[in-house]
Amino acid sequence: MSDVKRVLIVGAGIGGAMAAYSLARAGISTHGVEIAPRSSAAGTGICLLHNTMRAMHQVELAEPCLEYGQQIDHFRQFDAMGNQISENPTPPGIGIKRPDLAHVLESAAVEAGAKIEYNTTVTELEDLGDRVKVSFSNGNVAEYDVVVGADGVYSKIRHKVFGVKYDAEFVGQSCWRFSAPRLPEHDGFWLFRHKGAGVGAIPTSKDGCYLFILENSDKPLNMPPDKLDLLLKERLAAYTAPLIRQAVEQLTSPKQVLFRPFDARLMPGPWWHKGRVVLMGDAAHAPTPQLTSGGGMAIEDAVVLAECLAAPGTAAQALEAYSNRRIPRVKRVWEASFQISRWEREDPVGNAQRTAALLLDTYRFLGEPM
Ligand SMILES: Cc1cc2nc3c(=O)[nH]c(=O)nc-3n(C[C@H](O)[C@H](O)[C@H](O)COP(=O)(O)OP(=O)(O)OC[C@H]3O[C@@H](n4cnc5c(N)ncnc54)[C@H](O)[C@@H]3O)c2cc1C
Repeated sequence: MSDVKRVLIVGAGIGGAMAAYSLARAGISTHGVEIAPRSSAAGTGICLLHNTMRAMHQVELAEPCLEYGQQIDHFRQFDAMGNQISENPTPPGIGIKRPDLAHVLESAAVEAGAKIEYNTTVTELEDLGDRVKVSFSNGNVAEYDVVVGADGVYSKIRHKVFGVKYDAEFVGQSCWRFSAPRLPEHDGFWLFRHKGAGVGAIPTSKDGCYLFILENSDKPLNMPPDKLDLLLKERLAAYTAPLIRQAVEQLTSPKQVLFRPFDARLMPGPWWHKGRVVLMGDAAHAPTPQLTSGGGMAIEDAVVLAECLAAPGTAAQALEAYSNRRIPRVKRVWEASFQISRWEREDPVGNAQRTAALLLDTYRFLGEPM
């Protein structure tokens, strides 16, 4: 029998909601708190690679994701006019709209018996050795065997427990994103290259896709929110590929555009826990998004954490087993992503081939057991 009976998860994003589902399903009493209101999941789309879908399959969530999403199985590179430069089949994953993924995960968690409270956060955290005492913003106080920090890249739990030196830092790139209709032939991660820049496009449903373009800068950029559509159109002007022109035609409001700097952090080993408080997802390893794997790693974390916490033994044994299983795998993916980001910033044209090679090599590595 496991010593861990009652767990608090802070944050109900991709990783937190998946952990709430996986833990509740394993018979552990699971309480989640999320600072935002329910249904606040915003964003364009997200790519769930083969390894992520394998983890979803393992806990019987692949089917609902497939119902909403669109299967993708190719990585293709094009020039700005849409002429194909290279084509590589990839193991099948899916693209899905972020609100659809949030709906699948949160509904599954609640159905499995997890209790998730929205508009709620942690105000105080006291590790008493044999349990953790937690005070909440709604005035409640409760005790748990383990507390999971799944509160994302700007994690307050990481900051509180591990200190300011592990706060995420700007990595010299930002990303523009928007949603658009999908072309019928759009079958995977398509990358349109032009003079060292690139526009990516990933299907998210039978009729939708999302596009993104990266921008390098030494310091974080502040873009005027009311001009995001115009600024993005300027950046896409040189791309005449039909997919991009068709998408740009639909771009009529700044509200359709998301602009976000990349802040990253990889928590070092040997442990992602201190006492009975453990980190997962972006709180433990916020990557640059070149490998489209941050959400996938959070999903894998959740499945492995639930397996470890449900196994016979003490909380300390479970948390050590979790770090032992997760850190080497996540480190490799995080570092490959960061390397590609660095190559893109230093010499995107000169590094294009080794970037593609590292991308495909890491995709292959992801196929190894989690
Ligand atoms: C441009 C871009 C593209 C990406 N594309 C992909 C992709 O294609 N595939 C992929 O796998 N990954 C992708 N990622 C990465 C992915 O989005 C993240 O890695 C993933 O969302 C991490 O999940 P998480 O649960 O750890 O954090 P999040 O999903 O950010 O969830 C954190 C949750 O915690 C809540 N929270 C925050 N603070 C508190 C608090 N104090 N108290 C309570 N709740 C709190 C937040 O409201 C949020 O709901 C991309 C990232 C970016 C920036």
